[in-house]
Amino acid sequence: MIPPPVLCYHRIGGALELGVTRVGRSVFERQMTALARAGWRTLTLAGFANPHPATHSPRTFLLTFDDGYASLAEHAFPVLAGLGFTATTFVITDFIGRDNTWDMQYTWRRLPHLDWPEVERWQARGFGFASHGARHRRLTWLDNDAVSDELGRARATMVDHLGVDAGRAIAYPFGAVDERVQRLAGHAGHELGFAGVGGEHGSPLNLPRVPVYMWDAGDTPFGLREDGLGSVGRFVAHVANRCAVGTSLMLKLAR
Ligand SMILES: [Zn+2]
Repeated sequence: MIPPPVLCYHRIGGALELGVTRVGRSVFERQMTALARAGWRTLTLAGFANPHPATHSPRTFLLTFDDGYASLAEHAFPVLAGLGFTATTFVITDFIGRDNTWDMQYTWRRLPHLDWPEVERWQARGFGFASHGARHRRLTWLDNDAVSDELGRARATMVDHLGVDAGRAIAYPFGAVDERVQRLAGHAGHELGFAGVGGEHGSPLNLPRVPVYMWDAGDTPFGLREDGLGSVGRFVAHVANRCAVGTSLMLKLAR
């Protein structure tokens, strides 16, 4: 059985930015509607982790959001709920209910993150939440103690607020992971770790995802296309993801 693809969005709608990770609400709505009409269905994290051969359909995917911006509750989740879709959102636990001072400032004003009441409200409606680290630090640059602190603290916060299922997975900030970070993520109690395009199918703590950037504006995001355009798009997303090294370097210098 081929593992279902995993799409990764960041911000939907809200303020325009100088970066590339924002996708407009109308583009997002058009993409999700086209996927639903084409017979695509979204998986919960549990359904992704334990695929059931009897109910397995080729057109299923895991929809994920990184960073947990507040605008998701306004522009993305209602669209998904209307289509019977769900999603898993990876939140930065130290920044829940706070502004995005961890990020490069790509927008005129700082952007707010989802707060706990909003997260709990959407969890009650069947949406999943998991860890994106405590402070969105690039784990491959930290020593073992700091990695374990980032991972362990974030996971404990998720479990405390949302229950054990919210402690199953981590999406590595910047998609940055190596064998050491995978090992530490496992020690911290994670069963699943999501990386960037460079992840490997069949390696639970280094799973691949295809990011969707602003230029990926057709009806079917590149990550779900099997044609030539799909491979080109995935390659471009891979290159762009590597560019995120630039962002974290600048952040490091800014501190
Ligand atoms: Zn992120």
